[in-house]
Amino acid sequence: MRIGAHVDSSDPLAEASARAAEAVQFFLSDPQGWKAPKPRADADLLRAAEVDLYVHAPYVINVATLNNRIRIPSRKLLLAHAQAAAAIGAKGLIVHGGHVNAGDDPAVGFDNWRKTFAYAADSGGFGVPILIENTAGGDNACARRLDALARLWDALGDHEVGFCLDTCHAHAGGEDLLGLVDRVRAVTGRIDLVHANNSKGAFNSGQDRHDNLDGGTIDPDLVVAVIRAAGAPVVVETPGGVDGQGADIAFLRERLGAEIRTA
Ligand SMILES: [Zn+2]
Repeated sequence: MRIGAHVDSSDPLAEASARAAEAVQFFLSDPQGWKAPKPRADADLLRAAEVDLYVHAPYVINVATLNNRIRIPSRKLLLAHAQAAAAIGAKGLIVHGGHVNAGDDPAVGFDNWRKTFAYAADSGGFGVPILIENTAGGDNACARRLDALARLWDALGDHEVGFCLDTCHAHAGGEDLLGLVDRVRAVTGRIDLVHANNSKGAFNSGQDRHDNLDGGTIDPDLVVAVIRAAGAPVVVETPGGVDGQGADIAFLRERLGAEIRTA
């Protein structure tokens, strides 16, 4: 099982070795901005690296919204990031499920996701797996709770789409981690990546505030159980830089290794 961390984008491979990580996730541009990613000077190095690479799309992207001034640039930016992620050999592009505004019809939001995949298919394809991530907050989210996720997957139909399960977002979003992997798989059929984070916010608080694995409101054993059940690569998006994330990665390796040895 490959375990890694979300790191600064300047030199992801150096960040990986500083944490003894087998995978890294990073942004290709300002996560709060609308700028398309620039080609990277280290693209050849990244493509040849042993470390698995994941790219996280900017937070501003919301392809579900009924506001066309957000939706249209969102799907363009998502495609630009997917193609830039493909150019560095990334295993996937992670994007949040998005939401519609209060009073808007959620069905249109799910259909906007379908349109996004159709648009990409008509524009040469994403070129990299798109992993939709569950989110923590909001009453009109497409991927906070499993009932919404089921409608999203129905809308996406035959389009090839992956799933990234964030343990902080699930807990803060109001989905119990116990047995969650089976409940998710019943909807999506797959889990491609686990974001292993503890949560500063309480269960169902709606707060997206990550904590180190031995901190926060989630029993770390539950995070380990989710990872083991998912059998997917893991990225920690926890605070504390090299020290904090390095300790989280070491904790997971020890716990997962111990459980595998005694299994
Ligand atoms: Zn996450």
